[in-house]
Amino acid sequence: MMLLPTARGTYFDGNSAKAHPVILRLSDRLELSGPDVAVCWDLPDLVAGETAAPLSRLGPKSGRGQVEFLDQVFGAALAARCPDLHRRVVAERSGRLRLVLWSVAASGAAILMALYGVPALASRLAPLVPAVIEARLGEAVDRQVLSMLDSPARCDQRDGVASLDRLSARLLRDSGLPDGIQISVHAHRTPNAFTLPGGRMIVLSGLIDQTDTPDELAAVLAHEFGHMVAHDPMRGLIAATGTSLLLSMVIGDLTGSTVLIALGQAALSAGYSRDAESAADAFAVNMVRNAGGDASALAAILERIDHDEDRSSPAVLRSHPFTRERARISRSLAGPKQTTTGLLNAREWAALKDICED
Ligand SMILES: [Zn+2]
Repeated sequence: MMLLPTARGTYFDGNSAKAHPVILRLSDRLELSGPDVAVCWDLPDLVAGETAAPLSRLGPKSGRGQVEFLDQVFGAALAARCPDLHRRVVAERSGRLRLVLWSVAASGAAILMALYGVPALASRLAPLVPAVIEARLGEAVDRQVLSMLDSPARCDQRDGVASLDRLSARLLRDSGLPDGIQISVHAHRTPNAFTLPGGRMIVLSGLIDQTDTPDELAAVLAHEFGHMVAHDPMRGLIAATGTSLLLSMVIGDLTGSTVLIALGQAALSAGYSRDAESAADAFAVNMVRNAGGDASALAAILERIDHDEDRSSPAVLRSHPFTRERARISRSLAGPKQTTTGLLNAREWAALKDICED
């Protein structure tokens, strides 16, 4: 059976700044449905706004309303079906310059707004340093992401946490990454992990369930450390919120919550570019090898996730696309499976597997 492409997104009705969560469905039209939204747009009528990847924004040229989403696979499917989607109206130079200035200002202001709110913005500007911004932003996004996942319980079984600390310390030794990286595990069946600004990582317990060996889990952590090294989360969030804020400005209402929702969505579906994923994979293979683990473990877990992925579900949480291709490349980087003692012993690994047990 052919499945219709779907994605999760946010709908703005053009009258207020309220963000409506919706599911986008591509049939012979683009259907948006959500708790309080049921909209259908003709494909030839759709035009895309200027946004920075991975965010896409589009709406009908003959009507009101816009939808934003981050799923690049869905975006590609849509672009293939909409003849006018990326037809550009040539803007006047002054208009273009204003847009650029707006984008720059919006990117900075979005972050500051999310952290401090508009009134305190000016007075807070002076003492800010980047590390502070990152840490505070990471905290805000951490909360937002968890609330978007329906606030899954934090898994903090003592021996399991000790094993996780041991595993990450082994990977991070001599890695050059800053101290103070915080990894939290939450009970959620989706096999995934997210890196947030400020050295934070959220691991969903479904990922631990999917891994067969400590080296496989280490490989996924190492991949996330690779994103940290490259500052991918921060870059992705700035791109996403900068444009969201622009939309709020156009609509004429500035609300911090719109930006926070966008921040959370960007972190959740963080569709990093193919290059960013490849770089993080290569980093991970090396990091696991340097720690004395099985460098082919990344390929093993990627192959399993690719195989198990439920293709009927919307690609909502599949934050790391191109799984099959990535598995193939990381396997060739790693070479054959290595016989190692494993990065944790059997007792430590069992405790880590049980980190969500009380
Ligand atoms: Zn990734």
